[in-house]
Amino acid sequence: MDSPIHLRGKFKESKRILAILQEFLRLSLLQVVVIGGGAAGFFGAIVCAETHPQAQVTLLEASHQPLSKVRISGGGRCNVTHACFDPVALVQHYPRGGRALRGAFSRFQPRDTVAWFAQRGVVLKTEADGRMFPVTDDSQTIVDCLIQAAHRAGVKVWTASPVDTVTRLESGFEVYLKSGTPLQADRLLLATGSNPRAIRLPKL
Ligand SMILES: Cc1cc2nc3c(=O)[nH]c(=O)nc-3n(C[C@H](O)[C@H](O)[C@H](O)COP(=O)(O)OP(=O)(O)OC[C@H]3O[C@@H](n4cnc5c(N)ncnc54)[C@H](O)[C@@H]3O)c2cc1C
Repeated sequence: MDSPIHLRGKFKESKRILAILQEFLRLSLLQVVVIGGGAAGFFGAIVCAETHPQAQVTLLEASHQPLSKVRISGGGRCNVTHACFDPVALVQHYPRGGRALRGAFSRFQPRDTVAWFAQRGVVLKTEADGRMFPVTDDSQTIVDCLIQAAHRAGVKVWTASPVDTVTRLESGFEVYLKSGTPLQADRLLLATGSNPRAIRLPKL
C-alpha cells in the first residue's frame, strides 16, 4: 500500500501532467488570424506557427497574389536587408523612428535576417554600398522562400479574402471578410501595410 508521502508525490505528479495537458489543449485550440499577406504578415505568421506548432494560424490576403510588393521590391531583386550589424549604428539611418527601432533591432537585426534566410536555403550577398540581395538577384527567391516556409509551418493562406471589419469579443476577436464570412480569432496580427483605411476597426 502507498504511504501518505507516496500518495502526495503521485498527486503532485498528476497535477503537473494535468497542467501540461491543459496548456497543450489551450494552444491546440488557439486560433491566430493574420490580416495582410505582405512581407510583414508572412514573416509574422511563419514565426507564430513555427513557435507554436499546435496553434492554427490563418493568413488573410485581399488580392489574388500575396507578396506583390516583395516581388517588385529592389527593382525586382529585393533589397532584403543591409550589412550593418550594430543596432546603435543601424538606427542612425532612421531619423524619425530610430529610438523606437533600437529595442526591436536589439532583438532581431540584419544578422538574424541573414541567418533566418540561410536556414531556409536562401543565401544573401552584400554589394559595395552595404545593400544585401539574394545571390539569385531575383525577388522571386524571397517570395518562394516565404511561401514555402509558411506552407511547411502549416499556415493556412487564404488569398482573395479581403477583411472588412474586426470587432472585439469578450475573449478574442471576430473577423468579417467582405464576402460576409466570419472568423473567430484568439489572437490577431494586423499587417495591412501603410494604408490606414485598409480595414475597419470600429470596436477595438
Ligand atoms: C517600388 C518599391 C520598391 C521597394 N523596394 C524595397 C526593397 O528593395 N527592400 C525593402 O526592404 N523594401 C522595399 N520597399 C518597401 C517594401 O515593399 C515595404 O516596406 C513592405 O512591402 C511593407 O510590407 P508590409 O507587409 O508591411 O506591407 P505590404 O507589402 O503593403 O502588404 C500589406 C498586404 O495587406 C493586404 N491587405 C490590405 N488590406 C487588407 C484587408 N482589408 N484584408 C486583407 N488583406 C489586406 C494588401 O493586399 C497587401 O498584400 C519597396 C517598395 C516599393 C513600392
